[in-house]
Order: sequence, then C-alpha cells, then structure tokens
Amino acid sequence: MEVETLRNILLLERKRGYSNTAVIGGLDKYLSRWSMRNRGELTSAEALSKFNALLAKHNYAQWSKDKRQAWVQEVLDWLDGLDKSTVSKLPARICQEGQKVSKPQTRRQRPVPPLDSLGLDSPITNVKGVSSVLSSRLARLGVRTIRDLLYFFPRRHLDYSQQRKISELEVDKEQTILATVWESHVTKLGTLPSTEVILGDGTGNIRAVWFNQPFLAKNFRTNDIVMISGKVTEFRGQKVFESPEWELLEDRGLVHTGRLVPVYALTKGLHPRQMRSLIKRVIDDWAWQVPDFLPEEIRQRCGLMSLCEAIVQAHYPDNYATKSEARKRLAFDELFLLQLGVLSKKREWQEGQPGSPFSLNRDDLAKFINSLPFKLTGAQQRALDDILADLQRSRPMSRLLQGEVGSGKTVVATIALLVAAANNHQGALMAPTEILAEQHFRSVCFVFSRVGRRITEDTNIAYYDGLMSRRLGVALLTGSLSERQRYTLRKEIEEGRVDIVIGTHALIQKGVEFSRLGLAVIDEQHRFGVMQRAALRQKGFNPHVLVMTATPIPRTLALTLYGDLDLTVIDELPPGRQKVLTRWLRPEQRQKAYDFIRRRVLAGEQAFIICPLIEGSDSVEVRAALDEYERLSQDVFPELRVGILHGRMSVAEKDRVMQAFRDGRLDILVSTPVVEVGIDVPNATVMLVEAADRFGLSQLHQFRGRVGRGSKQSYCLLLAEKPSPEGVERLRAIEQIYDGFALAEKDLEMRGPGEFFGTRQSGLPDLRMARLSDVALLELARNEAIRLFQQDPRLEKPEHHRLAVELARVWQVQGELS
Ligand code: ADP
Ligand code: MG
Repeated sequence: MEVETLRNILLLERKRGYSNTAVIGGLDKYLSRWSMRNRGELTSAEALSKFNALLAKHNYAQWSKDKRQAWVQEVLDWLDGLDKSTVSKLPARICQEGQKVSKPQTRRQRPVPPLDSLGLDSPITNVKGVSSVLSSRLARLGVRTIRDLLYFFPRRHLDYSQQRKISELEVDKEQTILATVWESHVTKLGTLPSTEVILGDGTGNIRAVWFNQPFLAKNFRTNDIVMISGKVTEFRGQKVFESPEWELLEDRGLVHTGRLVPVYALTKGLHPRQMRSLIKRVIDDWAWQVPDFLPEEIRQRCGLMSLCEAIVQAHYPDNYATKSEARKRLAFDELFLLQLGVLSKKREWQEGQPGSPFSLNRDDLAKFINSLPFKLTGAQQRALDDILADLQRSRPMSRLLQGEVGSGKTVVATIALLVAAANNHQGALMAPTEILAEQHFRSVCFVFSRVGRRITEDTNIAYYDGLMSRRLGVALLTGSLSERQRYTLRKEIEEGRVDIVIGTHALIQKGVEFSRLGLAVIDEQHRFGVMQRAALRQKGFNPHVLVMTATPIPRTLALTLYGDLDLTVIDELPPGRQKVLTRWLRPEQRQKAYDFIRRRVLAGEQAFIICPLIEGSDSVEVRAALDEYERLSQDVFPELRVGILHGRMSVAEKDRVMQAFRDGRLDILVSTPVVEVGIDVPNATVMLVEAADRFGLSQLHQFRGRVGRGSKQSYCLLLAEKPSPEGVERLRAIEQIYDGFALAEKDLEMRGPGEFFGTRQSGLPDLRMARLSDVALLELARNEAIRLFQQDPRLEKPEHHRLAVELARVWQVQGELS
C-alpha cells in the first residue's frame, strides 16, 4: 500500500495551507486514483469500511478550508494507525497461490519493486529507457500508462518455436537454430555494406546475412551463443539465413527468437525489436503487480487463467495452448465487465422513480391501425405487443427494437407515441440527423391525416382533431428553426399543447422543458451509447424509452452490449420487397453506370448518387458535392433534372429538394452521405455510390436500403478508384451478401468489436480480445455476470472489492480519459 506517498502529499498540502496544490490537477483526482490502486489490498471488512468512509466520497475542491483541515488530519491519523496486519504489503501475493507464473527472470534477482509512488496508471515515461520521444510515439498507439502497455497485445505471433540442427534446415521455411558464432564481419553484398556471420552447431555451419545493416556486425563476437530465427534461403547452392531475427543468449529470456514471438502494431519511428524488448521488460517488472479482480470462485468455475499469467502469456506465450487460454481469460474479462456495467446501469434506472403506466383504448388503437395504408407484418405486430405490454407497467420501458433497414420500425414507434399522447403524456422521437427528423415528421403527419383532421397549416407544428378521441399536436424541432419559431415551439411544448415532438437529440439536451414527457423514442441506436441513455433517464422524468436500430447484431451480443435494454427483433420485411442487385464497377465502367441511370430515368424511375465521404470538415465535403453536382447536371445529364442535397442547406431548402424528389420533379438526387439513414422514396431504383471503398459495410448496406422500397427491381452501383485491400474485401462482401446480419458479422470481423460499436465514443469499455464468434464465451460471461449480480448487485462484499474497483476503472476512468 502506498502509505508513505499519501502521507507526504497530505503533509505537503497542510504546509501549503490546504490550498489544494500538493498535486498537479488537484487532490480529488489523485485520491480517486490512489483509492482505486490501494483499495484491493485491504483484507478485512473493518479496514475497508473505514477506508470507504474516509476516501470513497471526497470533494476536496469544494470543501471549506476548515473541512479540508479536519479531513486531512483524520486521514493522517488513520494512516498512522493502520494495522499492518490488515494490509498485504507484497503485491506479489496478488498472483493466485498455486498458479504457476512464468518466471520471467532466470539470472537476475527479482526486480526491485518500483518506487512507492509508481503505479500501473503512472505514465510510461517512468519506465527506464522511455524517453519523451518514445513516449509520444507510443501515445500514437494509444499507450500512455504502464497498464496501457501491459494491455497492448500483439496482433499475432511468429512461430519460431521449432528448433532445428543446422544439418536439418530446409529451404523456404521459418526455422530456428541455436548456434555458436565463428566469425562476424562487414562485407559488401551487391553494392550494400552488410553484416555476415558464420555460425556452427556441431552438425554443420551456415551463413546469416543482414543486407544494408553493417552496424549489426559488432553485436556478434566469436564464441557467442546466438539464437537465429527466420527463413532459410538458398544462394549459389548454399543455405543462408537472410536478415533473420537474432538474439544473444545472455538476455533475460528469449524475446525475439526461439519461441512464439509477438508481432506488435507499430508506428513511425518504432521498431519491432525495440517494442518487443520494451514490452518484455515492462511485463517482467509489472505484470505480477496487476491485481486479479476476478473473484476466485468465478475464475475456478470458468477454468480461467489468473490475470497476471494471462497478460504474460498473451504477449509471450509458452505455446499455442497457453496463448489461447490467455486470450480466453482476457476476452472473458472484457465481456464480463461490459455486462456488469450494463447491468448496474439497468439497476440504477430500475431503482429510480417509477414511470407512468399507460392504459390502452383498444378501439381508438384499432381504428388507427386499420387506417394505415398497409397491414402490419406479423413481426411488427409482435413488436407492438411487446411495447404495449411495457407501456402498461409502472416500471419504465427500456427496450431495443432491432430490425433490418426498411422493416417498418417507424410506424411501430408512431403507435407507441400515440398511446402516450392518449394518456396525456408527451412523446419525443429523436433521430440522428435533421433530414431524418424531417422525414419522420412528414410520415407521422401523413398517417395521422388518414384518421384525424389537420387543423393548422404551420410547417413545423400540426394540430389534429379526432385522433385517439382528442386534439393532438405534433411538432418538428430542429437546430435550423428561426429564433421565433423555436421560441413559440418551446412554449407549446412547455405548456403541454404539443404532444409529440420530433427532432434530433438536441431535443432533450438543449433544455427543452417538457411538461410531462412519458415516452422517448431514439432512432438509430448506434449513435447513442449506454451513457446517453442513462443521461436521458436521469433527466428527472423517467420516461419509457424505446431505442430503434437497423444494426443487426446477433442476439447474444445484443444482450451483452445492450443488456440494459430488453430486446425485440422485427425479423420480417414488408411483403414485395426486392433484392437490390449490387455491382462493384471498375473505374472504366463509370460511363456505363451513367448510361444505366439514364435508361432507368427514361423508364420513369429515379436515382440517388452519393458523393464520396471526404475526411475533413463538413464544408469541404459540401464543396466537393457541389462540384460533383455541377459536373453531373451540366456535363453528364444535361437533359435530366438533377437536384442536390447536403448538410449545409437550410431546412426549407432541404425540404424543397426532398419534396421535389419525392414528387418526381427531380430525376436524380446528388447527395452527401447524409441520406444514409431513413430516406424513403419508393420510386427510386438506382443508388450509385462514389468512392464506395471508403464507406463501412453497414453504411453501404444503409445506402442500399434507400432503394428497393417499391415493387420495381432496384440496383446499387458502387464505384471505387483505387481501393485498398480492405476496401476490396468490403466491396466484395457487399456485392455478395444481402443479409444484414451476415454483413454485420463480416463488418465486425473486419473491424473488430471496439471500432464497430464505437465503444470509445460511447463510454463502453474497450473490446480488444473478445470476438463475435465467441458465442460460448459471451454466454459464459453473461451468465456469470447475472449470477454475481443476483448475489451482490453493488459489489459490496469484500471478495468483490477489487472487481468493483476494476469496474469503476474501465467504465469511468477510461471514459473520462478518452
Ligand atoms: P425502418 O425500419 O428502416 O425505419 P421504415 O419505418 O422507414 O423502415 O419503413 C420503410 C417503408 O416501409 C416505409 O415506406 C413504410 O411506410 C413502409 N412500411 C412499413 N410497414 C409496412 C408494412 N407492414 N407493409 C408495407 N409497407 C410498410
Ligand atoms: Mg428508420
């Protein structure tokens, strides 16, 4: 326990007159970290409760000087009186007894424990040999602390574990030898000054050469024992190692050769050998100090490796079996912590204020549903049943509605909003973009007009008579309303005259005051994280929440990631939907694509052309789209009616263009990627995507979902100039795979879960080791989390303290730092 450091800091703080200056960044932050690091070392419940009373809730920055003084004294007293027997002083004990940890050191003594003040979360510059230059390179890889480096796992391993005799070496294979250096010198190979070493092992001799690396020669002295790993080639009838990995056998265990050797992601200025040596050193000094936060019982039951062992084996595995065990343990941790975090979020809201149970007027509901221009699909009906059942409970609904693009989620949400309104509660429908919000507003107005009578003609507020046997107001609230419109609208919402508000999520953030919000619907879930949902619930009104997403993820994963939500899937498309034929065109086929569009337009159909995704500012993208629009409308399709849609247009302008396209007064709509979600024009049959290789698979699938909404055969054409290998892989996938689930799986496989779900942005813990294919592990982690949660939901038992600390760390500290 880092008693001395804390004592020194408090003494310094006292000396400075309690000015909160003893540590940079203030005491609170330091205390939180200190507590986190040290809490796990207390073994008795008594010590813990005292610890908690003193250190769990501090708000030093806000306290008065007197309060600070009293508190500092109290902590100092406590530190003085700490009963040594309650504190385990040796971090080494953290490794479970009976677990074999690979002995990293063979010759050296166990390293001197790092200074008291150093911890896993200390900056990497504290490691010997890490200069500020090196640390800034590491920072580019996201490595800032010692812990980051321990968790910076290799991308793969090279198998240099098979040792051969020189006489057994075969050409063209990766092999390893242990040999004696006979001679080492610099020589010219071709025109390049190079290193040449002659090696022998009793069965024969072999040359090893390193082209253009004369400086290596001095590393090898005659009679040194060296391990060489690499590919054997043949040169003029003689076998030779060309630029192999090498390692003198005086180092601290094998790092670069003779074993499964890690291959790390690198960045400019970082070299494989350097990275491997650094990580090896940090593992040797630190891995054994990582506390195993997993309760022993769970670890045993699931047959998992201890954490320190797993970290060691993930980097420097003894063999494939231990490597896979290590991965299993680390992946389990990620999923387990994710699940626990999600469960505790769920508990937080469930324990909050009860929501408002709604009652159903079946007649009014049936009247509305029968008025729709189509019959609900079976899947829509089932989803609706789930939702209506939730709405009648006093525990607020918290449901994820998952359904393929075009499966008809909007109308289901609309019905739920009507139910809220009929119960004298307000409903909000949040969309990720303004265009989509506008479209939702329009389609809600459209279906309402079939039953009710619209009694106003405002562009952004509509009042109806005769819907659900009452007067009902629907409004559109976006960032581009005029001051006056916004003012009026806010008043209408505040005073409860508007029942349903549709807008972007600014809707709930911008201090719009609802008089009685009862239901919040969030469209396109993947842009909102668990944290935002929690924030929404904490707005004080505890509304029912319905989240809708078109990102099809497998059920088990959905349950893990969105475990705070109940899940309903719409697994059926409305009848008559066509498969959208998808083709990846080569650059020279561009003209053909244009000809094709022209033919479809002449046949009375319409087309979208999506401009490339351009990294940089919105305005750059708009500029590029305008140029493209000019080219297309003047040079390529001078005889056709071409419109443009981009994010910098005013609502009125966008509205005009969308309306014109919908009414068939435009043949082609050129657009920035804003149409990605939701736009619905059944007569559009061609979707042409420029620079399609730059888009992610889910995004391409969304684009494709914009067409094929009517009865006519539809097409998706993809153009790409010089796709990268990953780009090619994506284009092939989208050409061949039509099923959203299969595509999502492919996407996940290509991008990795962390990137796929944007866990960094959404405040979820990182997923590095977990894989989608790990269904069994997902289930294991989920079941264990649920079981633990039932026993000790607040993780208050002493044996769960380390876990509580780790959970807080990955959910909060990480979110705060990134
Ligand atoms: P998404 O689930 O992608 O949000 P939408 O709600 O936008 O899908 O619906 C796509 C289109 O399908 C809309 O034009 C909608 O009117 C239509 N639609 C919804 N339900 C049905 C149905 N049961 N039968 C026919 N068309 C439907
Ligand atoms: Mg939608």
